[in-house]
Amino acid sequence: MNVRKIIVSSLLLSPLVAWANLPVVASFSIMADITREVGGERVSVVSLVGADQDAHVFQPKPADVKKLAEAKVFVVNGLGFEGWINRLNKSANFKGVTVTAANGIKPLAVAEDEHGHDEHGHDEHGHDHGRVDPHAWHNPQHVLRYVDNIAAGLSRADAAGAAYYRERAAAYKARLQELDSWAGKQFAAVPAARRKVLTSHDAFAYLGQRYAIRFMAPQGVSTDAEASAKSVAQLIRQVKKEQVKAVFIENMSDRRLIDQLAKEAGVKVGGKLYSDALSSQPGARSYLEMFRSNVTALSQLM
Ligand SMILES: [Zn+2]
Repeated sequence: MNVRKIIVSSLLLSPLVAWANLPVVASFSIMADITREVGGERVSVVSLVGADQDAHVFQPKPADVKKLAEAKVFVVNGLGFEGWINRLNKSANFKGVTVTAANGIKPLAVAEDEHGHDEHGHDEHGHDHGRVDPHAWHNPQHVLRYVDNIAAGLSRADAAGAAYYRERAAAYKARLQELDSWAGKQFAAVPAARRKVLTSHDAFAYLGQRYAIRFMAPQGVSTDAEASAKSVAQLIRQVKKEQVKAVFIENMSDRRLIDQLAKEAGVKVGGKLYSDALSSQPGARSYLEMFRSNVTALSQLM
């Protein structure tokens, strides 16, 4: 290497060395992935709830409190999804920037009958999920807003990176738009009468709204309560009557309930959907992968 090359490369490298990565905590794996896409090399992102884990029933440990106490930015979904964040914020005495990624989207209300059939509400653990459905990331159009909120939050904590975050956010949003139009095309090939799906818990209403698919589930929008025998019996009748063929387990939920339901309704469990967590396995290690995998599985089985 000649002298000129050495000077040029050290000039190029020096800003990288000077940047200490911005420490960011994300509440669960999907938020962590989207934050990494926006934050790139300027951020170090840690996820509290890991791949294939259920954020609804998560209980922060002292190590999680320590992680948050050291962070400058905390990225959460909001809409009541993380029922445990208030206590965690208090324990960690967190004074950094909190990004509520779903801020500004129009949330779907939780259906009244659904509240009845999963019989949860204000249980003793304090998991109150409110009256809106928190799973808004299953509509890529909402994730565009997530990306803007995350870019704004990172820029607030790291003003020098604002242009960088803006650029990365724009590039990622272009990929989300592509994903959305690709998904629309996949589902357009499925006749309307066949767009019916059974899953464990009610996590896909936003996907259903975006692409005109009806999802049913024995559990409500949270997994923290058992499905009632009455709702299970009702679903079995419905699955039979409507000849629902698309029956899925979820990557972060216990599959026994769906297995039982499918058996009694006389249908086969056809595959796996990724609802509230990415996977450590190939196919759903990022949001983009996860969404593609879900769309492919759904459109093939419906
Ligand atoms: Zn969920």
